[in-house]
Amino acid sequence: MKKIVTKADYVQSLKDQKLVIYYNGKPVEDRSSHPGFVPHINSASKTYELALMPEHEDLMTAKSHLTGRKISRFTHIHQSIDDLIRKVQMLRLISHETASCYQRCVGFDALNAVYMTAYEIDEKHGTSYFARFEEYLKKIQEENFMLVGGMTDPKGDRSKRPSTQADADLFTRVVEKRSDGVVIRGAKAHQTGAVNSHEIMIMPTQAMGPGDEDYAIVAAIPLDTPGITLIFGRQTNEERKVEGSIDAGNVEFGMVGGEALVIFEDVFVPWERVFMCGEADFCGTLVERFATLHRQNYGGCKGGVVDIMVGATALAAQYQGTLGASHIKDKLVEMTHLAETVYSGSVACSAMGSRTKSGAYYPDPLLANCTKYNVTKHIYETARLAHDIAGGILATLPFSEDLRHPEIGRHVEKYMKGIEGVSTETRMKVLRLLENMTGGTALVESMHGAGSPQSQRVMYQRLGKLPEKMRMAKKLAGVGE
Ligand code: SF4
Ligand code: FE
Repeated sequence: MKKIVTKADYVQSLKDQKLVIYYNGKPVEDRSSHPGFVPHINSASKTYELALMPEHEDLMTAKSHLTGRKISRFTHIHQSIDDLIRKVQMLRLISHETASCYQRCVGFDALNAVYMTAYEIDEKHGTSYFARFEEYLKKIQEENFMLVGGMTDPKGDRSKRPSTQADADLFTRVVEKRSDGVVIRGAKAHQTGAVNSHEIMIMPTQAMGPGDEDYAIVAAIPLDTPGITLIFGRQTNEERKVEGSIDAGNVEFGMVGGEALVIFEDVFVPWERVFMCGEADFCGTLVERFATLHRQNYGGCKGGVVDIMVGATALAAQYQGTLGASHIKDKLVEMTHLAETVYSGSVACSAMGSRTKSGAYYPDPLLANCTKYNVTKHIYETARLAHDIAGGILATLPFSEDLRHPEIGRHVEKYMKGIEGVSTETRMKVLRLLENMTGGTALVESMHGAGSPQSQRVMYQRLGKLPEKMRMAKKLAGVGE
């Protein structure tokens, strides 16, 4: 690939490298200009643009430890504490320019994680992955292309190991080893920046054990390799970006990372691009390193909403095989507690109500304020727990048009499936319900409907009887007036 230096080079390279990408059930002809992708391209472009500015050179670039040449820091292997600190400073700098995800860190972290791990695999198993990886590293440092860090597998029924799934492809695997390379089948989900990248580094998604050797695969694969299909995930705000209106908020840049589901249908990878194959004992180490390198009437009405949220969350967990896990049950208990907490506030302020001179009854204002104030906090916490349990799929699920599509619908059906006996459509409907209830608008309404939290705090100041509480304390302390 021609070396990428400027934003124009990067955009042109995306135009030149033709990928199979679907957006809302339609194949994308030119990914470099698709309105759904442009904000993400603009964000990633900043990693190129800022590197050309002399004032940012020390953060955005580094000296290759292999060639001594000046390279993008996104292709650098950290050589010192200083490098690690500069990485963080660089990310902060780019965030100031985009206020959104610029995606390239995932591939950066994959390079570093694989680098460290390949060395240790060779040491233990007598393989030669490290030297191979160094050759690959020289290539990416020279060409400066964009790499996706492909870790997350669809995982199907999460209560089962890779080799015991009903469909063996729900974890990405090697289906054939040949003299010249390997053949890969499976998918990687929630792939940040995939539609505007050039290659993907697939890595195992979790620790593996004996019997899982076919799933212990690390390989760098150009995204235009035959057999690869990308299905863009539905972002919560995408129509606004596509319209190009002021409703977009962050007009120029993406929000999250433009995630896609990447399908591998018997994709051939030559050996020089394979950096782990069968060493299941190193999967856990690799995952840990990657993760470390890469890591945020109301009691009645919202209580009721949270009840549905709890139900939908439990269904989402059931459909992916995690409902039996103790930490999931515990989080559902916490969500239930928060719903009952806000509900009890509503009951309490009603029960403690009083008769007004008119004869009409009036709830206890302090407790009513307390209830609403709790809603402004607890609804966010319940949504947080729902997101925690449901997983990233809530933010990256393909469009319904992709599921119904005659050509790619089968991929969505296969890779978005959870446990046996529950259709992908059923799972998607429940996840969309949860997305709808825990998305921005519903939460903001809980925060500000019936008055903003500050207005409830003002009522605490007015109705909280602070002088009386001070007087009671003085009496107990034995201090005089
Ligand atoms: Fe980088 Fe991840 Fe932050 Fe995106 S979310 S900018 S990939 S660290
Ligand atoms: Fe991300």
